[in-house]
Amino acid sequence: MSTNVILLGPPGAGKGTQAKTLAERTSLSHVASGDLFRAALREGTELGMLAKSYMDRGELVPNEVVINMILERIQAPDCAAGVIFDGFPRTREQAVALANSMARHDNKIDAVLYLSVPNEVLLRRIAGRQTCKTCGATYNIYYFPSHRPGICDACGGKLYQRSDDSMETAQHRLDVYFAQTMPLIEYYQLQGILHEVDGQREITWVTEAMLKALGRYLTTSAHPKE
Ligand code: AMP
Repeated sequence: MSTNVILLGPPGAGKGTQAKTLAERTSLSHVASGDLFRAALREGTELGMLAKSYMDRGELVPNEVVINMILERIQAPDCAAGVIFDGFPRTREQAVALANSMARHDNKIDAVLYLSVPNEVLLRRIAGRQTCKTCGATYNIYYFPSHRPGICDACGGKLYQRSDDSMETAQHRLDVYFAQTMPLIEYYQLQGILHEVDGQREITWVTEAMLKALGRYLTTSAHPKE
């Protein structure tokens, strides 16, 4: 039996940062739909090209496309101990498809960690975000700038802004989140598996709060690595 966790929250709430750390500290695999699309785009696949046309506008990629991609991804051997879903599901249809697929494999979603951040903070968090081309480290020009502008503190690599992180697209992504993804908070609350975590606290505080919330769901094989 595996442990499966969803990180839910608006763009800019810190899902990617937290999911990465949680995966390092447990034996769960980090599965991020946005990262999978960006990887497909880098590889120049048809899926990547299709996703790009939606991502650039801040729109959601059609349900069927995302669902197929994720359900295939979680069959991989590295997902056997469980998965931390980041950025998926984003609609009710995706949530239902995931639940049905899990049930077919005698599995289920154990917990949903909802990272809450006030709306007014989100825009700056998204539009200020910068990522290192070389090592993937993330910065924010408002909250956590690199020491030298545009240069990664960790490796000296060049920092870039995701093309869908411009102010205008960021606003649209937030609108899409409110309309299509926010209803999932209630959906999982009604199932009694939603845990809210204050996403405005320090990164390390948030990680510890999440690990604490997950404690009782982590099977022996998925306990935090020391
Ligand atoms: P993210 O990296 O999670 O912010 O996702 C970046 C973009 O990828 C989103 O704005 C969507 O265009 C697309 N995307 C990622 N995950 C999903 C999903 N579950 N459903 C639909 N589109 C998605």
